[in-house]
Amino acid sequence: MDFSHLLQWPGAFFAVGYAVSLVGNAVWASNFLRDPELAQPLTAEKQAVLLARFRRVSVIFKTSILICFVACAFAKNGRSHFGADFAVYILVVILHSQIVFTVERRIRSIEASHRNVLSLTVRAMFAMTLMYGLYFAMAPAGGIGALWALASQEISNAARNAISVVLFPVLILIGMSTVTLFSPLMVRLMMPCRKITDPALLSMLEACFRKAGLAPPSFWTLEMKRHQMHNAMVSGSKWGRGPFRRALFITSDLTEKMNPAELEAIILHELSHLSLHHIRKRMLSSVVAVCIALPAAALISVIASIAFGSGGVIAGFATLIALFGIQIGFVRRVVRRQEMEADENAVKLGASIEALGGALNKLALLNGQETHRKDPNTWFSPGSAHPTVMERVAFVATAEDMIVTKLRWADAAHRSKDVDDIRNIIAVRGPELDWAYVNRWALEHATAGLLVDIQSSIPPA
Ligand SMILES: [Zn+2]
Repeated sequence: MDFSHLLQWPGAFFAVGYAVSLVGNAVWASNFLRDPELAQPLTAEKQAVLLARFRRVSVIFKTSILICFVACAFAKNGRSHFGADFAVYILVVILHSQIVFTVERRIRSIEASHRNVLSLTVRAMFAMTLMYGLYFAMAPAGGIGALWALASQEISNAARNAISVVLFPVLILIGMSTVTLFSPLMVRLMMPCRKITDPALLSMLEACFRKAGLAPPSFWTLEMKRHQMHNAMVSGSKWGRGPFRRALFITSDLTEKMNPAELEAIILHELSHLSLHHIRKRMLSSVVAVCIALPAAALISVIASIAFGSGGVIAGFATLIALFGIQIGFVRRVVRRQEMEADENAVKLGASIEALGGALNKLALLNGQETHRKDPNTWFSPGSAHPTVMERVAFVATAEDMIVTKLRWADAAHRSKDVDDIRNIIAVRGPELDWAYVNRWALEHATAGLLVDIQSSIPPA
């Protein structure tokens, strides 16, 4: 690979951009770590607040690194150093993730070393490259092949155009279905994992799937304890067999951190994505998004090249932003709705709202995330546009359940936000609430005293 172009314009300019982003984030991080608040022992809630502040800034630096890379590619305009540019970009991203990890490790007392995280980052990049390779090999290669085959046929131009318009979404679907089929393998490439063998856990997991009328998939634990990453996910297609068999992954210590009801609620949520055909619907919505985004991006590209000259950096950026902005926005909306639907279905299958709420709350705090605000790390990720824990609980819970659940949270975490929420619900819905139900559970949870305090703090209407 030829890196010499980095010393000349425009490579040198963007190399400085990378350096400024990295040094900027490192300086900001070291200042942040000097915050006297960090010297005291932190509650999980306090950790989440501090981490959100740090992650917001890091995401901005990470974005500036990406902008440098894209701008560099456009500014070169056809000069072929893409391989070297991409290698430099990957290196910068790895360095950035190490800076971020230094702070995360300190605040959350993570056991993993910088080397562990490096190997995890490299694994993830390798798997992502494979996945994109697979996608791009399936969709466009098929498309070019089909168009090439069409070119040699004696058909009219109009017919050829019509065929390529229909072909386009079909090819995207083929690409995505291939990725879905391979996804259980990709997850195993990304993270160290083990097949679940504990008979008690296995029978509980299988019972959950039977309850939903689904065939049990293969069950895996992700060995992420020392990284303090906590999650559960399903992947794969029901057509997958052998190594491609549909799989449910849970991080290893989730089984210790959650009580049985909470664990069941999480599993029921995950399998609801399967019984509601969410993966297929997400793929279809991506195709719709591309179909909307392409003409819009083409239009913007035309307008931008009239305004700024064709092939220019600004015209290219405008087109890219239109293309990805529309797609990401569209898919995020679908993902958000699906999360709510999966929660609702989990409750229908027998998860108690309290267990689901408690599990979501725990999961967020275990990952150092706030429960009422989105994690900054997910801002630009279409696949993880999960609503906040608060939004999700509010969606499945009745007003009475909200009060009962939030009383418990307010009691456990002493968070004023929960008390304010309870006060608001009572102020607005007070007379129509099923008070016998609320009082019964408040007594059961020993939060009746808190409820009386809150009630007495509401001024009479
Ligand atoms: Zn989900």
